[in-house]
Amino acid sequence: MTGRAWGVIAMLALAIVAGTGIWLRCEGVPPEIRAPEQIVIGRAGTEVNLGATDPRSGIRDITVRLRHAGGEATVFHESYPGTLPTGAVTKPGIPDVITKLDPKALGLKEGDAFLIIEATDWSWASMLTGNTRVLEVPVRVDLKAPRVSVETGLTYVRRAGSASVVYRVNEDASHDGVEVGEAFFPGMPLPGATDGRRISIFAVPRNAPADVPIRVVAEDAAGNRGTGSWATRLQERSFDEVPIRLGQAFLTGKVPELADALGLDASDPVAAFQHINSDVRATNEAEIRRIVARATPELAFKGGFLQMRGSAVTSRFAEHRSYLVDGKKVSEAIHYGYDLASTAGAGIEAANAGRVLFADALGIYGNCVILDHGLGVTSLYGHLSRIDVGPGDVVTRGQTLGTSGATGLAGGDHLHFAILVGDTYVDPKEWWDAKWVRDHIEARLELGP
Ligand SMILES: [Zn+2]
Repeated sequence: MTGRAWGVIAMLALAIVAGTGIWLRCEGVPPEIRAPEQIVIGRAGTEVNLGATDPRSGIRDITVRLRHAGGEATVFHESYPGTLPTGAVTKPGIPDVITKLDPKALGLKEGDAFLIIEATDWSWASMLTGNTRVLEVPVRVDLKAPRVSVETGLTYVRRAGSASVVYRVNEDASHDGVEVGEAFFPGMPLPGATDGRRISIFAVPRNAPADVPIRVVAEDAAGNRGTGSWATRLQERSFDEVPIRLGQAFLTGKVPELADALGLDASDPVAAFQHINSDVRATNEAEIRRIVARATPELAFKGGFLQMRGSAVTSRFAEHRSYLVDGKKVSEAIHYGYDLASTAGAGIEAANAGRVLFADALGIYGNCVILDHGLGVTSLYGHLSRIDVGPGDVVTRGQTLGTSGATGLAGGDHLHFAILVGDTYVDPKEWWDAKWVRDHIEARLELGP
């Protein structure tokens, strides 16, 4: 072949390469935009998380505008570095765009609006200006807080005790209930009521501050928060200080046995006890909160709760225990239940009607049953030697759940009985008292139908 022919081939090859390059850089696919399908802006504003990708040329710029009754405002604009021959520096996407939509700053009024997101790529298409995709997201501006009206009058509640309140919220709330300081007790439909009234059974946690605020709160989908206060009186009480001496039999018998079952090192029984009484206890308490979170609102209990038949109280609710070895304090704990003892292997009965939430081994509580009584009230039965029910079983008041024992962290055969309202332990004494249940809970439930 002559030199001239070689030249032609080289030119052709160059033209093909250049043509392919131009064709590639001229691609006509616009960017993909990731955005919520719908946005609700509340009084406090809303953060919107957006993204854009363009695998072939990369993103060149993004503009986000809000079109509303009062006009249009650009809420975000950014150009991303790149060159025409190579496209964007960062391909295929850009870092997430987080833009805050503040109704005050934007002068928004209640009603509908649109968020318009425009993304352009680094393609040579459209006379080198690139491909553009426009996405419109419907926006609802809701600046009104839910209005809460409390129907219950003056309410007395004891420290570590329970109470209830009936209230109404003027719009659908995504979250409502009673706040007692940092504790929250969800509201539920008042059984039998057809007018949207709600009930919340709540409690004042043992360690709540003396002036803990108690109020009904309701939050709507836009995050607007309404609150309702009413007259409440917290009745103070004190709790027992109880020293517990750990004997050799317990330290060399029960502790290694429990440590073994939990897969822990028991070469130093005091250290093993300390670990079980603090870390294992905390893990078990966290699991109990996960279990009671599965409780359903459906009311099942009726009347007072049953106290274990023919039992003696060996330890009361919420006492502060100090554990001593040879006169030296090695650990401490709050005892969030009652210890009730009768004969060994005594029948353990459901304190009230409900549904079995849990029936299995649970660390320091040994073989344990947890019942859901509805409206956020659950009961716990620990240290059983045998369990006769399974998860999901519906039980009647007084139905046998199993037999008492000394499984878990127990020095002898007894029942550890506890009641929770939401995820707060409460004094079972109130719930054992049929008159208290009638006056403080059922009187409010009767407002329903
Ligand atoms: Zn106990």
